[in-house]
Amino acid sequence: MNILVFNCGSSSLKYQLIDMQSETSLLKGQVEKIGQTVKTHQEAIAIVVDQLKEKPVHGVGHRVVHGGSVFTKPVVINASVLEELQALNFLAPLHNPYNLQGIQAALRTWPKLKQVAVFDTSFHAGLPRRAKYYGLNKEVAEEFKIQKFGFHGPSHNYVSDRASEFLGVTAKDLKIISLHLGNGASACAVEYGKSVETSMGMTPLEGLLMGTRSGDIDPGVIFALAKKYDLDDIENILNKKSGLLGLSGLSNDLRDIQDQAEQGNDDCRLAINAFAHRVRKYIGAYAAVMGGVDLIVFTGGIGENSASMRRRVLQRLDFLGVDFDEDLNNESHDKQVQMISSNRSRTKVLVVKTNEELMIAKETNVMINKAEVSADLVIPIAVSARHLHLDKETFAKLFGEGKEPTKYKDISQPGQYACHEKVNLIGPRGVIKGVRLLGPLRPANQIEISRTDEYKLGVDAPIRDSGKVKDSAPITLEGPAGTVHLKEGLICARRHIHMHPNDANKLNVKDKDVVEIAIKGGPRDLTFGDVLVRVKDSYVLEMHIDTDEANACELNKGMAGDLIYQSVETAKGHFV
Ligand code: ADP
Repeated sequence: MNILVFNCGSSSLKYQLIDMQSETSLLKGQVEKIGQTVKTHQEAIAIVVDQLKEKPVHGVGHRVVHGGSVFTKPVVINASVLEELQALNFLAPLHNPYNLQGIQAALRTWPKLKQVAVFDTSFHAGLPRRAKYYGLNKEVAEEFKIQKFGFHGPSHNYVSDRASEFLGVTAKDLKIISLHLGNGASACAVEYGKSVETSMGMTPLEGLLMGTRSGDIDPGVIFALAKKYDLDDIENILNKKSGLLGLSGLSNDLRDIQDQAEQGNDDCRLAINAFAHRVRKYIGAYAAVMGGVDLIVFTGGIGENSASMRRRVLQRLDFLGVDFDEDLNNESHDKQVQMISSNRSRTKVLVVKTNEELMIAKETNVMINKAEVSADLVIPIAVSARHLHLDKETFAKLFGEGKEPTKYKDISQPGQYACHEKVNLIGPRGVIKGVRLLGPLRPANQIEISRTDEYKLGVDAPIRDSGKVKDSAPITLEGPAGTVHLKEGLICARRHIHMHPNDANKLNVKDKDVVEIAIKGGPRDLTFGDVLVRVKDSYVLEMHIDTDEANACELNKGMAGDLIYQSVETAKGHFV
């Protein structure tokens, strides 16, 4: 499967053909001077077609900078998506219109291929409200759709994943500060796999100091400038004439500025110091936002290449547990991932080469696969009423020595069955009678109840994966032959999906992934998060929820889980 990735700007078209099996690049390049020597985006794509030289293309992924509030995840492009994209141009006039021109040209070139739009903003779509909204008048903000969107999503997502992988864990286990420092620069607080704060805002102008953008300024500055300049000029000053270029008066390229600073140029020294200071300020802020930080990741042209900028940024961060290793930092980094903190460092610091194109290709691949499988693969849902599994010893105490469980009927998972035997659950507040035993007997007792049952019994059962009963809640069981007080075993089962490896393959998930499932078609559509995937040869595809959950979405016979992949991270993962 080869995915062609396009990143289309006003005057250039970057492209990369990626083999998804090996995740390697088969072809990479850039067509420049669109609008001049190359007249249109259509001509630019014709040049790419020429370069492909018969290499097959199975899908196309387009980087789209702004997804607004409409596109919170990647989307397969069709006529209505194109219309909606058009309507978003005003949010990113310097980027989106050109992204769209690239898409239209590619659709004309490959009308039969699935093409996917992947948004810079979607990684940040789940920002908590307190981070998303400015302290602006609510009505004004609503009318103008003003909120923080955040950008560089594929890069922050990619480097957080790669860095976590390098440490042998997943991003879901860590509090990460990701620093994408390039010509455009942004910081992102990635808490347990999710973006919870990011420095770019409604537009890519907010936040860090950048090559030519000012980043944060007092909004009052705009009023001061308005005394002399009109709005277009001010926009131009803040976007194109500020930042490193504006402060140094020399260049937007840190290499030039560093050269001149070494020669004693004071403006260049200030530019470097101001850049580092702003990054440090955000590190402190994001550590506070997440209540700590496990990992700081540098990426982007400056983050990957400038050891001296990294040193400036990291100095005196020992209070955050950073012990950075000067020698490691100065080593030339041709590796994908390089640790630059010492072994003693509580907070790890890594340099990761970003690969936004690969991230876009992965998202595209997931969307294309999803489009293919979702038509014929929905997840049946079974409601688990309260029930229990017993070990041999407890069964004997409740039902009598020498007794065996007797089968009442088979249930959907092969080898398991409902039994005739029932027990009463006795809690401090109340009793639930006639709770059915499921066979066969197991090595450990496990009693699964709903939250409503808990209130009735007056107990507090933890949410647990099946089988994880250690230190769960106590409960008393009453059977025909005796009563048993269990010290542990009572749980509220975590929602989960059983599936055969073939289904897992089709759905692009693996055992222990955590996904999201949308239940649609009833009177109360509902998306369940935190659904555990359980893959085994003996399993049949089925999602298990309890009675409370089924009631919450008013589940009826025949309703099923609908699969729409959310993002690559979730692709390991989330479908909705
Ligand atoms: P973009 O945001 O356009 O993708 P990049 O991430 O490619 O930008 O970063 C480009 C910037 O990286 C250059 O403008 C330059 O400031 C900086 N850069 C690249 N290599 C070095 C280096 N060796 N030392 C310092 N800065 C570097």
